[in-house]
Amino acid sequence: MKLICPVCEKEVEVEPANTVRKVNVRGEIFEVPVKLYRCLECGYDQIEDHEDPQDEIDIAFREYRKKHNMLQPEEIKSIRKKYGLTQQELAKILGISPATLSRYENGGLQEIAHDRLLQFIAEPKNMYTLVEKNKNLLSEDRIKELKNKILEVMENTDRYESLERKHNASSEKYRGNKAFSFDFFEKVVLYVINKVEALGNVVTKTKLNKLMFYIDFLSYKELGHSITGAVYVKLPYGPVPDGFQTALELMEENGSINIAEIYPQEGDAVTYIIHSSKPVYDINLNEAEKKIIDSVVANLGTKKASELSKISHEELAYIQTQEKRKIDYGLAEFLKMRLSD
Ligand SMILES: [Zn+2]
Repeated sequence: MKLICPVCEKEVEVEPANTVRKVNVRGEIFEVPVKLYRCLECGYDQIEDHEDPQDEIDIAFREYRKKHNMLQPEEIKSIRKKYGLTQQELAKILGISPATLSRYENGGLQEIAHDRLLQFIAEPKNMYTLVEKNKNLLSEDRIKELKNKILEVMENTDRYESLERKHNASSEKYRGNKAFSFDFFEKVVLYVINKVEALGNVVTKTKLNKLMFYIDFLSYKELGHSITGAVYVKLPYGPVPDGFQTALELMEENGSINIAEIYPQEGDAVTYIIHSSKPVYDINLNEAEKKIIDSVVANLGTKKASELSKISHEELAYIQTQEKRKIDYGLAEFLKMRLSD
């Protein structure tokens, strides 16, 4: 590739020169890998690609928060959003300034005391108590709405947990040797949607089912474990993660995705288009797992849902399973889809 070399003062051919920069965060040094390039004419190796800016402070803050078990900016935002509050309202309830909260949500490094407060209210029953004690801070109507919202969040937490129990009650051969966690499943789903959307393609519900099936089963075949631990069931239009409808509803309610109903033509069945409402950070996937997801997305992400249905119907894992029964991950070894380079 070509970039501008500040030493040669012109556009030159460059090669990657990955380096680390030391960043001091509250007295601790973090070594942040940065993507830089080397000029092939003069050897200068600090060339930045301005199309792909490297925010090392941001990366170092993320590392710092991870090390100290602090919330990341998007987590702070998502706690506020799950209670349906504006920044002003939440700041009032917490007794901090709205500007401070806004700064935290946008990547500023939070005070440790504020972080603990935010983690405390992430638990809905704590939030309920705090709101109850400070009900004079917002209007009576708003407090009533907020309390209802908190109760709804509590109910949803029960639904996550029952979904997790449902998957984990199955034996390992139906989960692909992995435990199912809703949080992680949600992150993987978001990661996949973001990847497909980045390719300029639309994700429908049917398409997402199939992509998840291939990701988990291909991972089992290649690595000996599924990625999400989800159980898949054979339905007429293909393999589907068990309880997928509930999972999508929960994801929509907590603001991770939005689902649009499209009626392609008079008389056609409704199509559900799923959009991601947030980026995914800090997803706990290793390189081999990311490669599997990338490969499935590259191979199948651009295909139409009807083509994917057809492809999945030809898999032995599908053919050999009875209607509405769980699909055995052991059948993954016969997958027709291969890992691409
Ligand atoms: Zn140069």
